[in-house]
Amino acid sequence: MGQLLEGKHILVMGVANDRSIAWAIAQSLAAQGARLAFTYESERVEERVRKLAETIPNSVILPCNVTVDEEIDTLAAALKEQFGVLHGFVHSIAFARTEELEGLFVDTSRDGFALANDISAYSLTAVAKRVYPLMTEGGSIMTMTYLGAERAMKNYNVMGIAKAALEASIRYLANDLGQFNIRVNGISAGPIRTLAAKGIKDFNSILRQVEEKAPLRRTTETAEVGDTAMFLMSNLSRGITGEVIHVDNGYHIIGV
Ligand code: NAD
Repeated sequence: MGQLLEGKHILVMGVANDRSIAWAIAQSLAAQGARLAFTYESERVEERVRKLAETIPNSVILPCNVTVDEEIDTLAAALKEQFGVLHGFVHSIAFARTEELEGLFVDTSRDGFALANDISAYSLTAVAKRVYPLMTEGGSIMTMTYLGAERAMKNYNVMGIAKAALEASIRYLANDLGQFNIRVNGISAGPIRTLAAKGIKDFNSILRQVEEKAPLRRTTETAEVGDTAMFLMSNLSRGITGEVIHVDNGYHIIGV
């Protein structure tokens, strides 16, 4: 393949370390010639994100905690200054308190529900709202979701509700932004051992079950997600919007 993303400026949010799905996505995008802007959530992860991002030439590194509107405003202004035009936005962010990711969903607290939905679902819209005006040549927005949006899965609990809201947001945003030639899609990835996954109780048994039952008999690798994200960011996917693509070795088609 040539340089499918030559001359494209893409915002990648959600790198925490080298196991992050966002990091694999960044590598696939950079391999096709994209210029990237990375964000970090807080000073706690800044150094780690900076070290990784600096391995990709010409990257921009900016702070942004998605719960703070002013930080997203500042991010959009910095992107305008650095890039002028933006072509892509990768959203790979989620959070729920550990205690909400075990036991019964019915026990979810009001503030735990609000927090999980704010960071994991609303943040897509909050950022899209501020960056789509920079996509003056058309654009592609994508986010990361999980099967727990479609099915009640053990321990996924409030995150399943947040992912369902996120998947509905994909459709509403796609409908709004299509008139500006901006596409909005999601990737529903199979379980992958990352920092975020550590919060989910019994994660190892979920991985084992996928290995046994997925049609391709293996778990998902971040590079598989990275390459699909690259496709979604590129002109190859120009006819696709409002869609959720499963990159899970087929696990979602299996009955019990
Ligand atoms: P990860 O922990 O590497 O990434 C989660 C990211 O969210 C981190 O970079 C973290 O800094 C960021 N984040 C959390 N709160 C934030 C805030 N307030 N402001 C800004 N950033 C914030 O884990 P990951 O598995 O790479 O997760 C990326 C996405 O993929 C998430 O949406 C997750 O739900 C989704 N996903 C993961 C799996 C899996 O099994 N790992 C499967 C399907 C979907």
